[in-house]
Amino acid sequence: MDSLKKMTTELKDVVSYSLNINNKSHIMNDLIDSVININWSGKVICSCGKTMDSFYRSNFCYPCFWNSPLASQSIFKPELCTAHLDIEERDLAWEKDFQIAPHYVYLANSSGIKVGITRGTQGVIRWMDQGASQAIIFAQVPNRRFSGDIEVALKSHVADKTNWRKMLSAAPEKVDLVAMKNHLTQFVPQPLKKYITIDNTVTEIKYPVKEYPVKVKSLKLEKENEISGVLKGVKGQYLIFDNNRVFNVRAHEGFLVNFSTQKNKKQTELF
Ligand SMILES: [Zn+2]
Repeated sequence: MDSLKKMTTELKDVVSYSLNINNKSHIMNDLIDSVININWSGKVICSCGKTMDSFYRSNFCYPCFWNSPLASQSIFKPELCTAHLDIEERDLAWEKDFQIAPHYVYLANSSGIKVGITRGTQGVIRWMDQGASQAIIFAQVPNRRFSGDIEVALKSHVADKTNWRKMLSAAPEKVDLVAMKNHLTQFVPQPLKKYITIDNTVTEIKYPVKEYPVKVKSLKLEKENEISGVLKGVKGQYLIFDNNRVFNVRAHEGFLVNFSTQKNKKQTELF
């Protein structure tokens, strides 16, 4: 038994997904058409190491949710970051380390165009985690707060959330991200305009999906306890199963589970 962690991704012709569990790395792309079983033990483990029956909120235990810098307000609202001003929220040393580093504002097409932010080192990983099929860097800033300020300025003109049902329904229609970037430039506050990047490279991303669900049904371990099905694809942090079912791996981080796979019976019979 081991705790679920989000899948690691690698940008190739098609995104390569690995699920690391019980010291084993499963290449999810190779498991398409295989049966996957995820059995929940009924326990979850917080990033602080505490084991319990359920999380208090957002995959944190009660003390972590209220005290850990990982669960502070500015994590959810980057425009509230203050470490660059030497103002502490929960742990100034941690916040300085996390916030005062290059960040990107990007535009991505996952279920339509959206704006988002990411730490410099996370770029493409974030786009793959969100199931974006196209993305472009909009601005590069020296700290998280500035990226939050730009995002806030753009939010009234473009979405800042992924519609995950739509993202999982099909590959989105192509959009002209360069034209959108040029259009949105006017809404950036003057002092932040200098951070808009000149490079207009659009990254195109393809996912290993054999069959998109027709009507998405989301699986939750709290309700099902056991998830078993034929893997039909992987997109964002979702496993797409047969019968229109999807499972958000990231939302179940910290769930203590048994994970196993077996070749699909029908497929085995063909050989
Ligand atoms: Zn905790």
